[in-house]
Amino acid sequence: MTISRGTPDPQPAAQYDRARDGVCVLSTDWRVRYANVSLLEILDLLGGSPDADRFWDLLPGWENTAEAEHLRAAMDGTPATFRVGRERGGGFVWEVAAEPLGSGELRVRLRNVTAQVDAEELRARVARASEELAAREQRLDEIVAGAPVALALLDGASLAVLESNEAYSALLDPPWNAAGAVIGRGLEEFIPDFERSGLRALMEQVRRTGIPYTHPEYEYGGFQRGPAWFRLTLQPLAPDHAGLATHILLLVVEITDLVRARHDLESEWRALFEVLETLPVGVVVAQAPSGRTSYMNAAAVAIGGRPAEELAADGVAEYASRWRMVLQDGRPFRADDSPLARALRGEPSRDVEVVLEAEDGARRTLFVSGVPLRGASGAVERGMVTFYDVSERLGLERALVERTAEAEHAAAEAALRAEESRALRVMGRALVSSLDPENVLRLAAQSAMELLGARGAFVATPLAGTDRVRIAPGLGTWEAVDGAELPLAGTLTERALRDGTQVYNAGGQIPTSEAGRPIVDRAGVQSVLMVAMRAFGEPLGVLAVVNRTDGFREEDARLLEAFADSAALAVHNARRFAEERRRAEVNHALVNAAEALASTLDPAEVMERIARLAAELTDAEGAALTVLTGEARDEVLMPVATGLMEPVRGYGGKLEGSLTEEVTRDGQPRMMSAGEPGAHPALDFFQRIGVQHYALVPLRAGDEPVGVLGVVRSPRQPPFTAEDVGTLALLGNQAALAVRNARLYEGAQAASRAKSEFLAMMSHELRTPLNALEGYSSLLADGLYGPVTEAQSQVLARMHGVRRHLISLIDQVLDVARLEAGTKRVRLEMVALRPLVLEIVDALRGGTGARGLTLDAEAEKVPPTYTDPGLVRQILTNLIGNATKFTREGGIRVRLARVDDELRVEVEDTGQGIAPDLAERIFEPFYQVDPSTTRVEGGVGLGLALSREFARLLGGDLSVRSVQGEGSTFTLTLPVTTAPVPPASARQP
Ligand code: ADP
Repeated sequence: MTISRGTPDPQPAAQYDRARDGVCVLSTDWRVRYANVSLLEILDLLGGSPDADRFWDLLPGWENTAEAEHLRAAMDGTPATFRVGRERGGGFVWEVAAEPLGSGELRVRLRNVTAQVDAEELRARVARASEELAAREQRLDEIVAGAPVALALLDGASLAVLESNEAYSALLDPPWNAAGAVIGRGLEEFIPDFERSGLRALMEQVRRTGIPYTHPEYEYGGFQRGPAWFRLTLQPLAPDHAGLATHILLLVVEITDLVRARHDLESEWRALFEVLETLPVGVVVAQAPSGRTSYMNAAAVAIGGRPAEELAADGVAEYASRWRMVLQDGRPFRADDSPLARALRGEPSRDVEVVLEAEDGARRTLFVSGVPLRGASGAVERGMVTFYDVSERLGLERALVERTAEAEHAAAEAALRAEESRALRVMGRALVSSLDPENVLRLAAQSAMELLGARGAFVATPLAGTDRVRIAPGLGTWEAVDGAELPLAGTLTERALRDGTQVYNAGGQIPTSEAGRPIVDRAGVQSVLMVAMRAFGEPLGVLAVVNRTDGFREEDARLLEAFADSAALAVHNARRFAEERRRAEVNHALVNAAEALASTLDPAEVMERIARLAAELTDAEGAALTVLTGEARDEVLMPVATGLMEPVRGYGGKLEGSLTEEVTRDGQPRMMSAGEPGAHPALDFFQRIGVQHYALVPLRAGDEPVGVLGVVRSPRQPPFTAEDVGTLALLGNQAALAVRNARLYEGAQAASRAKSEFLAMMSHELRTPLNALEGYSSLLADGLYGPVTEAQSQVLARMHGVRRHLISLIDQVLDVARLEAGTKRVRLEMVALRPLVLEIVDALRGGTGARGLTLDAEAEKVPPTYTDPGLVRQILTNLIGNATKFTREGGIRVRLARVDDELRVEVEDTGQGIAPDLAERIFEPFYQVDPSTTRVEGGVGLGLALSREFARLLGGDLSVRSVQGEGSTFTLTLPVTTAPVPPASARQP
């Protein structure tokens, strides 16, 4: 290289030529204008190229460094001094000073400062080391003083304590536990049992071998405070030339609490495991995360069914095969899903159902629960599963479910039975509420059919007094044979009545008689259940149900028996009721009969009614009444015959040898049927007109036989019963009396008719001479037979009076007779009552005036009415006449008025009046309150009786009100009748 390149300033350059530092001057374009020798040497050291023109080429590797920045800054005018380290400084440290020169050039000086830097560094390191040492000593002191670690530095040979900390003292028994008390003392002095415990031997061994001794849990029992545990370290220090440790450092940490705690824990664990071992629950504990089995209790092994070694697994995946676990449906078990795998993952699980399959294929079901067991850090350390065999329990549960189902079934059965018995009760009620025996039987059959789900039902009843049985009702499939009759012998009915309930479920083999076979065939019997109906031991018949799809069973029989019992009772009751009702009806009918018989006195009518009633009461098809006739009662006549007997009505003949004679002879009622041995021949005759059965009662009036009452039935009907005969006998008593009464009445009627005829005749016979007398006395009074003296004239007048009295008497008697005979004539015409009443009063005023009595009339205008003016005149004349007779002073007032629908005529007097208890009696014929009065006044006591009869004939009435001693008022009422019809009560001849 040249150092005089460019235009160097010789002055300054010379100045640096011998300088030890490397110096160069650089132009602004970084050309080296000058470089001294030292620089060239330095460049050599740094590996630069001395031939280069440019500074950056001179020192390759500098251009892009931090140093280059300093240099550029210096070139721009800011001086800079910096160091270049060993790595770029060729193993030396250079101090570079860049100084801008006034010429715009830059002077760069490099000085080797390596030694200087080394010294500085050494100084700094020493300072640092001593600081550290101090700090370390400090720390050691602190550790030794305050640490829980007990420290003691022992002399290797004497085992005397050279140094010890407070913790060490604290370990020792008093008084050695005071600070510093053991310094300078041999261990044997303050550690009891030092030799025996082997501690000295241990120390010797450490000193001799130079191998430290460590015991993690050194147990020492020599202290007063009891057994203690230590972590013990004996550290040999500074061996001498013979290799024996000159010192021994004793480090002791007391871990008694730790050990105790661990022992406690261990005993707890032991207890726990004891429990686990005795638990009937299987427990398996596995390590996390592998799943390697770490514990398995006895129960687990027992449940596993194989030795523990075979069951223990090394990993989670092994469990399924070792324990032979499968899923409920027998598919293989997924290891990841097992409660153990989940526990190891930290997930608890509960009662997962797992099935273990034994070698023989038997399966047991386990309920498995898993729990993760975590360490102090919370990480899962183990997984535990517990499980128990629920196969038995499941079996029990299943059994329980079955039992429950059975119980439910039983309950349902019971409910059904209850329903049935309810149905029975309901039907029972329905049965007993029906009082018609036929209806009850129908209802029973119908209900039985429904209750038992049968397609047919029937009741078979033995016919009383025969060896036949009747099917009624027949329902469903038996409807076709409803009403059929057949001999009882050999039928299933007979069997059921004799032997009890019959059940047959095989169609063709149902036993019956030859007569029953067509019926059974016709009804198409597949199955039949037949039970006897009995009430109070009395067999009423059988109740049968037929044809059920699944046949009849034992329990059906029990049900139907129960049902038949209530049905039988109902039938019994209904029959009893029907009997009672019939009896009541008969009684009622008899009462009616008595009334009916008494209501007429016409013998023919009476006998007709008797016959009709007899037939009605005995359910007969005909009746006949035979009477004894003839002077000697030695003939018979059948004046009445109805129904079947109609053809022989009027039949008559001799009593002798007749059926009537036979019946009347002993006076006993009887029943008989044609064709019976010893039957009367007349029965053969009557059989020809269709009569089969008879009931006959003799009719007697007192001791006298009157005739015979008989009722008859055709062969279609059953024979008469004793009850029928009883009914007939009761009717017979009534009938006999009625016949006799009618006969007596007939006789009386005839007598009455004779009396009336006699009276009519007699009055005629009396009138004729009376009229003749009247004629002659008139001739005498008129002087046709010579002059009449005053005395004769008086006698003639009295004769005239007597004659008139007699005529009136005869008229009245005649009227009575006519009324009794029903021959009194009423002549109705339109009558204006007011003028009639006034006229009657005027006509009678003479009589009252003669007695000093007043007679007044107050007559309203009333509407005309149809009535008999003659009878009205007769009534009023009689009333006014009586009033005149029985009144001493005062007067008589006659009033006519219309009140509502009737006309009233009142005759009021101020006479003696009538005692209240006699007010009705005076209307009886021939009654007089005081007959002596009428001896003076005349009258026979017929006036009021006739007047009332007349008033009633006219549709009105006559009544009296009276106060004794003050007077009487007789009131005649008459209807206002605008049509010329006779009043209902008027008896026309
Ligand atoms: P006779 O007048 O013929 O006795 P009646 O039949 O007219 O018969 O009367 C019967 C009886 O009634 C009378 O005898 C008398 O005792 C009583 N009698 C009738 N009218 C009256 C009357 N107006 N006042 C009191 N008594 C009377």
